[in-house]
Amino acid sequence: SNPFLSVRDLHVRFSTEDGVVKAVDGLSFDVERGKTLGIVGESGSGKSVTNLTILGLHSPKTTTVEGEIVLDGKELITASEKEMEKLRGNKAAMIFQDPLTALSPYYTVGRQLSEPFMKHTGASKKEAKVRAIEMLDKVGIPQPKTRFDDYPHQFSGGMRQRAMIAMSLMCDPDLLIADEPTTALDVTVQAQILDLLRDLQQEFGSAIIFITHDLGVISHMADDLLVMYAGRAVERGSTREVLRQPQHPYTWGLLSSMPRLGGDLNEALSPIPGSPPSLLNPPSGCPFHPRCAFTDKVAGNRCTDERPSLADGRAAACHLTAEQKQTIFIDQIQPR
Ligand code: SF4
Ligand code: MG
Repeated sequence: SNPFLSVRDLHVRFSTEDGVVKAVDGLSFDVERGKTLGIVGESGSGKSVTNLTILGLHSPKTTTVEGEIVLDGKELITASEKEMEKLRGNKAAMIFQDPLTALSPYYTVGRQLSEPFMKHTGASKKEAKVRAIEMLDKVGIPQPKTRFDDYPHQFSGGMRQRAMIAMSLMCDPDLLIADEPTTALDVTVQAQILDLLRDLQQEFGSAIIFITHDLGVISHMADDLLVMYAGRAVERGSTREVLRQPQHPYTWGLLSSMPRLGGDLNEALSPIPGSPPSLLNPPSGCPFHPRCAFTDKVAGNRCTDERPSLADGRAAACHLTAEQKQTIFIDQIQPR
């Protein structure tokens, strides 16, 4: 059967004054209905650009998009702006890190939930209000009838995030893209919002793409994981497999820089040395080679000369042998 969302060999390039930035460089993945795909990587890895591109929210003047994005049988790269606008209203919605990106300070929360719904479904004002109050209630806003008439500034940060989730659910989207949706919230509220998203997914059956730099946040959210580095996918698999036995040196680095669940939050973390590469002039071969501690385990100069490919299914784009990928993690990386 065809996956609900299929991305194939996606390339996204920006023209800048300094040259061409390869923000996404040959990315492929699928997401099924009712499932969550976690996309993990540092900032600049291409995860946000990928998702803005899926929703057609890139600037066509400065951006070149190649490849294939098929959502529910419809090719999106070649779709018109009008078709994309319709899609963003109905089929797909985005939850941002900062609710104020989506909510205007000048209008009531209720109006901001109702108006797009009326526009996309032809519902009356009264019907839209009923729906908005129902959604505010679903996301756990107390006294939603009264809160309907509040302005965003009258909501706490956590409530604004809930209101934005309510807004994204108004038209019952089949695809939800959540970009670091809880990063700005304190740990307790963060946990509540993640629980809420999971419950809503059960109820609505949407596919979710959950973007984060935090492997801890993703562990309870995502069915499958895609680890991105320098605009490419470097590792993929079920969340369970990737977190239990990661196979890529970059994923090892992400894991060891993550505070352990239930561990001392102040324990010394070891961040990955170096910084993400410039995408104006990406490194040759494996893009991770300037930061990788294992290049000497690969024969010849393959790490600097040859781009490792990522196979389908459970896979890591790295020249280490399957045995090395397993034993190095167990012997040297795995937390004791
Ligand atoms: Fe490191 Fe080489 Fe594997 Fe890249 S291919 S992650 S440089 S060992
Ligand atoms: Mg981002």
